[in-house]
Amino acid sequence: MCTRCDNPAHLPTDESATGHTRRAVVAGSAALASTALLPSTASAQANGIPAVGYAVDALNAPLKPFSFTRRNLRADDILIDIQFAGICHSDIHTVNGDWGALAYKMVPGHEILGRVAAVGSSVSRFKVGDYAGVGCLVDSCGRCEYCRKGMEPYCEQGATFTYNSKDRYGANTQGGYANRIVVKDSFAIRISERANMAATTPLLCAGITTFSPMEHWKVEKGQKVGLVGMGGLGHVAVKLFKDRGADVTVFTTSPGKVADARRFGASEAVLWSDKAAFGRMKRQFDYILSTVPQPFDVNPFLELLTIDGTMTTVGVFAPLTPGVNGANLVQGRRALTGSWIGGIAETQAVIDHCVERGITADVEIIPITRVNEAYKRVVSKDVRYRYVIDMSTLRA
Ligand SMILES: [Zn+2]
Ligand SMILES: [Zn+2]
Repeated sequence: MCTRCDNPAHLPTDESATGHTRRAVVAGSAALASTALLPSTASAQANGIPAVGYAVDALNAPLKPFSFTRRNLRADDILIDIQFAGICHSDIHTVNGDWGALAYKMVPGHEILGRVAAVGSSVSRFKVGDYAGVGCLVDSCGRCEYCRKGMEPYCEQGATFTYNSKDRYGANTQGGYANRIVVKDSFAIRISERANMAATTPLLCAGITTFSPMEHWKVEKGQKVGLVGMGGLGHVAVKLFKDRGADVTVFTTSPGKVADARRFGASEAVLWSDKAAFGRMKRQFDYILSTVPQPFDVNPFLELLTIDGTMTTVGVFAPLTPGVNGANLVQGRRALTGSWIGGIAETQAVIDHCVERGITADVEIIPITRVNEAYKRVVSKDVRYRYVIDMSTLRA
């Protein structure tokens, strides 16, 4: 066991592998000492870095205040004092146990933005005071074919996710509904000082998850595209589609979102119940993106695709019901595809692009004490369009 961090995965003699070089500890100490929120540097090194957040401790239980520790900085780590954390529907799926077992207590949150409070000795991309973001991933093997291509979510050894995931040292990861996080610098995203911080925070999941398939399937200017499900991800997708010059039609179940769809850049908004519109639009769409977070009937949408058209889902991790009618694929040489988040370089690219182009999420900023109420409102589609938790309310 490592005598410096108590991690059973570290061997006492394996200093270079763990990053506990003498220089790292000294550099980390100096930086940590400058962080007023931390207790003495000595106790931080002995016990990890104290943190507070909101966690669940049982299935379907409300989020409650939770004290825990972040790991001491390795040479390639940064410490971020979190300013904002977005509430993604994935957080709710996870807390509900929809995506498998949970390691309790568990702090959700994978749209995280704040300021760098300390850096490890080998970190060159960040300095104390910089703005930094963390999305859905905090590590991957770094060596496999997919990691080398910047496709870390598809890592052959499995990526390490920001929360409810085992890291490569055997510890459970904890997410961003907290006052601080320690993350490997190569998995942190640089955020320009010019960014609207709260409204940029959701782009760390909602932005990259919708941008990545648009890049992969080469959505271009002049194409006719559809967006199914205009929630947290979907409303960002409309803006990104519009930004690349596509003609966007939004398909929503909420009459109250029709005007917003146009405001975000859609040329048309269609209710799922509008059978006449579906009939009129058959074989017109080059590409359709669905952000709907639960199974739904994809067949009416497949019929809207042109020959060789593609529909991508990013929200469903369960069997599609009532199933796919093969005729809708065969008779149009159409493709039904999926896409999962995006790589780190691509996340940096979409964040930089959005800051440059003034693209942000529409957010409602809430104190952490309203997080459980916010969950209920996300489920009932009563959010316009992303809740972002102001983490200063956690420290108060
Ligand atoms: Zn998410
Ligand atoms: Zn890998």
